[in-house]
Amino acid sequence: MKVSIIGSGYVGSVSAACFAELGHEVICIDIDERKVQMINDGIPPIWEEGLGDLMRKHAEKNLIATSDYDYAVQNSDVSFICVGTPSNEHGNIDLSIVGHACKSLGMAMAKKDGFHIVVVKSTVVPETTEEIVLPLLEEHSGKVAGKDFGVAMNPEFLREGKAVYDFMNPDKIVVGSIDERTGALVAELYRDLDCEVTRTTPRTAEMIKYVNNSFLATKISFSNEIGNICKRLGIDTYEVMKAVGADFRISEYFLNSGAGFGGSCFPKDVRALIGKSKEIDYYPSLLESVIEVNELQPLQMLELLEKHAGNVKGKRVAVLGLAFKNQTDDIRESRSIPVIRRLLELGADVAVYDPMAADNMKELIENIKYCDSAAEALKGAVACLVMTEWDEFRKLGPEFEAMKNKVVIDGRKMIDPENLEEDIVYEGLCW
Ligand code: NAD
Repeated sequence: MKVSIIGSGYVGSVSAACFAELGHEVICIDIDERKVQMINDGIPPIWEEGLGDLMRKHAEKNLIATSDYDYAVQNSDVSFICVGTPSNEHGNIDLSIVGHACKSLGMAMAKKDGFHIVVVKSTVVPETTEEIVLPLLEEHSGKVAGKDFGVAMNPEFLREGKAVYDFMNPDKIVVGSIDERTGALVAELYRDLDCEVTRTTPRTAEMIKYVNNSFLATKISFSNEIGNICKRLGIDTYEVMKAVGADFRISEYFLNSGAGFGGSCFPKDVRALIGKSKEIDYYPSLLESVIEVNELQPLQMLELLEKHAGNVKGKRVAVLGLAFKNQTDDIRESRSIPVIRRLLELGADVAVYDPMAADNMKELIENIKYCDSAAEALKGAVACLVMTEWDEFRKLGPEFEAMKNKVVIDGRKMIDPENLEEDIVYEGLCW
């Protein structure tokens, strides 16, 4: 089939490359000319394992990019909306980018003969596809949904860092459509993937995505709260959760306590569901607590810092890990951000290291020292905070010797204190 993908970020560029790999003809649309050029050169606009290989393989063959909506719509049967849906200043979903994309798409559809399908892949709160996207498309195209064009909602469940693998090996594909014909055509795009397609309504599809993310975020905050309690009782929370996770009804995943969740999805999606609930007069106290625990968790790293290193004004503190998790360069809502900001407020001289995400953090925080290795960041530091679960941090040992005051506070259970010299003070966040 001929597919156009609006937005070439994490979801859009991975979906585009994977649809190309599945044999479809794909056109990426982005307003960012730099990304358009990169895709046409076979270079992925974001880092994801395996994405470069797919882009190189399909670029200028069945994968091209443009900023021209008219060209993309004329030359495709289906358009996927993959633009961002960030939080606004109140934490509610900001649909302005989706709105702009719908306007451009609708105007391009106005010039096209024949049936076109619009699929919302961006994460949007229930009712958005039918009550915001569909009317905008009708307004700007002058056409009628269900008759002249189809509308569907197809949430994406990929994990950053494993995005290509997840797209090609999904554990579920959900297609919510306004009519049978549209749903069947969208499901057909995924025919070669070994996974059943759940066919439903757009609003149920939208809700499935939020419940999925909110449940995972709840598991993490729950585990962090249990970790905090266990630590104060002198109990190893990892031992507790290993046994608890053996219960098949619970599962072993997402039970590791630590500095909390970040990323572009969990925090904003839980907040968006909270916002939507309040809009319909329901106060979601459990979801509010999930966020509250997550906000407090990284700040506990600073309490431990004060306990072991005292006043850090004018002193070097090393922060290892900037990405919100390993295997990605994404720093959005990374738990290292509130930690670095607080360290700067305390007057610390902050030295950071991340194998992949430093460039992105440089755009957000300037007045810290970006180092090329953990060893460089640790040199002369009075304490070290481990914020991301990069594998290379597991191997650290001799590097701590260059610290001025050997305090290691571990937010991700990366360092085994058994392997450390006796003069190093080690404390885990919840263990
Ligand atoms: P992103 O910010 O990385 O990418 C969005 C892209 O859209 C950017 O390249 C931007 O230039 C482009 N864009 C903005 N306005 C545009 C317009 N009017 N026309 C064309 N392009 C435009 O976002 P993302 O992380 O890929 O997320 C996209 C959506 O997918 C969000 O709703 C997100 O919640 C959801 N999602 C993300 C993930 C993830 O892991 N990142 C996973 C599942 C779902």
